[in-house]
Parts: sequence; C-alpha cells; structure tokens
Amino acid sequence: MRRFLLIMLAALTAACRPAPATPAGPAGRSATVLISLDGFRADYITRPGAVTLRALAARGVRAERMIPAFPSKTFPNHYTIVTGLYPEHHGIVANTMVDARIGATFTIGDTLIARDPRWWGGEPIWNTAERQGVRTAAFFWPGSDYAINGRYPTYYTPFDNRVPDTLRVRQVLDWLTMPADRAPRFVTLYFSNTDNAGHDHGPDAPQVDTAIAHVDSLIGALVTGLAARGLGERVNLVIVSDHGMTPIDGSRVIRLDDYLDLNDVDVVDWMPVAAVTPKPGKLPAVYEALRRTPHLQVFRKDSVPARFHYRDNPRITPLVLLADEGWTITSTARLRMGQPRGGTHGYDNFLPSMGALFIAAGPDIQQGRVLAPFANVHVYPLLARLLGVKPAPNDGHADSLAITRRD
Ligand code: ZN
Repeated sequence: MRRFLLIMLAALTAACRPAPATPAGPAGRSATVLISLDGFRADYITRPGAVTLRALAARGVRAERMIPAFPSKTFPNHYTIVTGLYPEHHGIVANTMVDARIGATFTIGDTLIARDPRWWGGEPIWNTAERQGVRTAAFFWPGSDYAINGRYPTYYTPFDNRVPDTLRVRQVLDWLTMPADRAPRFVTLYFSNTDNAGHDHGPDAPQVDTAIAHVDSLIGALVTGLAARGLGERVNLVIVSDHGMTPIDGSRVIRLDDYLDLNDVDVVDWMPVAAVTPKPGKLPAVYEALRRTPHLQVFRKDSVPARFHYRDNPRITPLVLLADEGWTITSTARLRMGQPRGGTHGYDNFLPSMGALFIAAGPDIQQGRVLAPFANVHVYPLLARLLGVKPAPNDGHADSLAITRRD
C-alpha cells in the first residue's frame, strides 16, 4: 500500500508540475506507445463502446485478428509480443511452470521467484532500444520491472494493478512531454479491465461492454492529451491484446481422476492447457489412459503439433493436454472448490475466439489497411522498425508487417 501511495504521489506531483521548457517530447523523431488491453478479443472492436479504437483503426491499420502464441495465456503472450519469440524460445511457456535447474515454480503472483532473470530469455524491445541509445519507459508490462539481461527501462513502475488507470495515462503523457534530452521514445501501457470482466462474466456479458467502453475512454484520454501537448503527430500508437476469451460453464468439465490416478502425475498447470509430468515409469500408461478422453487432446512433448511451436524448452512438461473450446480440465477435488463459470482463454491459439486485437496508428503508420490474421511474433520487428533500432534475433519477420510509411 505504501508503494502504491508513493506512486500516486509521484504521478500527482508530475501532473502539477509546470510545463517543461521547450523543446519537449521525443527529440527529432517520433515516439511509439505500445498499449495492451488484456483479454480484448479481436471482435470486441465491433462492440458499442469501442468508439476511439474504431476511429484509430480507420486512420491507421488493424488486423482482422492477431493470432496469439500457444498457450493463449497472459504472460507467455505479453512476452512474445515484446521479444518476437515463441514461448518455447523465450522461456515463459505458461503462467505457471517448473524449472528443475532453477529449482522453483514460477507463478505470475510470486514476484520474488518471477523476478529471477533466468526465467526470462530473449531480449525485450525496451532492452533492444536502450542498448542502442533509445530511452524507454513502462507503465506495466510483464517483465518490465525485472532486470532482464541486467537492464530495466529508463523509467518503469513496479506492477501494482491497484494504480488507477487514469494515473497510468497521465504518467505516460508526462513521460512523453519531458524535455527532449530525457523523454522516452518507447513507452508501454497496460490495462486489465477487459480480461477481468471476461473471466468474471463471460465475453458476451454487459459487464464486458462496460470494460470495453472504459479502456476505450482511457485511450481517448491519451489521444486527446497527446493532441493538447502538441504531440498528436509525433506519437505512434500500437494497441494490442494478448488473447481473446470464450465462455465456460459447469456442464463442460473433464475430470482427470475419471481417467487416471492423480497420484501417478504432477499437474503443474490445469487450464485449459494442462501441463502434466507423469511419475517415473508412468508415462505410457497415463498417455494411453488420456488418449481416449472425450473433448481432450493429449500430446507427448515431442509430438505437439508444429503449428503450436511448443516443444523446444525443458519447462514444457512430458505431456501437454489441450481441452476443446469451452471445456474445463479439472478434478473432483477442484470442482468442490467451485464450478467453472464466466469465461477463459488458453485454448488452441488459432481459434477465432482466442484472436487478439491489433491496431496501429500514427505519423509513421500507413492508413486505412485491414490485415489478414497474423502471428504476434511479428510485432517485435515492427516495433524495432518504428524505433529505428536493429532487432535481436527473433521468430518474426520484419517484412511480415509492412505497415510503416517507409514500407
Ligand atoms: Zn491476459
């Protein structure tokens, strides 16, 4: 709470400070703001509240949908977007995972363990930029408050989702309005509202419409604030989400203990991709038992379909279980703690319901284009191109998103 108050105070102090002496803003070249709207399904852009997002898409570029990396979960995808690497290559293969070498279990809530840089492979775009002399800032992004490659963004904020959304927007505007020798040229911004509403109520609920309207208004405030500071034609906005959302309910459950003895396995992660490590000698029997389970696909690690790019990492378990869309992998004991309800994600990343948002607009972006679905590994080389820095090796292709005015 104390840290939260300090952040509030810092943001408010910044807000009350007189305007800096000119020149302000990113020196000479444009800046780019990467915004994540967690769990904003691609088709939410057609919902009534997405007014600003539709306007930005009309004067820039949008995708029919962006294909998340597998599994379509929050941490793997946020980190794929900023590294251009599939999870098997950057190492954040799930929101919950075990690494025998580190000797620990990674969970997104345990920051003491998650901040160990050995979890985080590849090079996030803020490090690519900083290494090449471009200042960066992050108002939240998974990994941005950890010393990956021994570096941080020049300006960053430890993750605390209680920080009011309007303060996040205000701080980003203040960063971009700093004197030219201090202003960042790359900034991240993150809002969780649509994901929270989708999980709690399902993607079709009116509460999701409220969340869409809320995040849309925050982006509206950012656009208005940039214009008021004379930065409207200096800042590119790249607005993405990490994955979509689909309804779940108590009638579609796969109880693993109906098919096998749970004492024969460690289930590292449950839903909707279950990460299963059979006890020594048990793998063949467990695999056979699960192979005939309705509404479930089971893969040995070495035969996970190639399109998932999900084999090449020791953190991927020997068996990977994938539920059909809308189905929940669970157990009798887990069901006693509560029935599935609302919505979730994590399913086959090529399902339209898992499709993510992609919109780009600004001085360096082409106008009026709608792109066919593409994989989110291509965002990192696009960001590098917008910043004028050389990308680190990655799984994307600089030419796949030829949407800048120089393309
Ligand atoms: Zn998410």
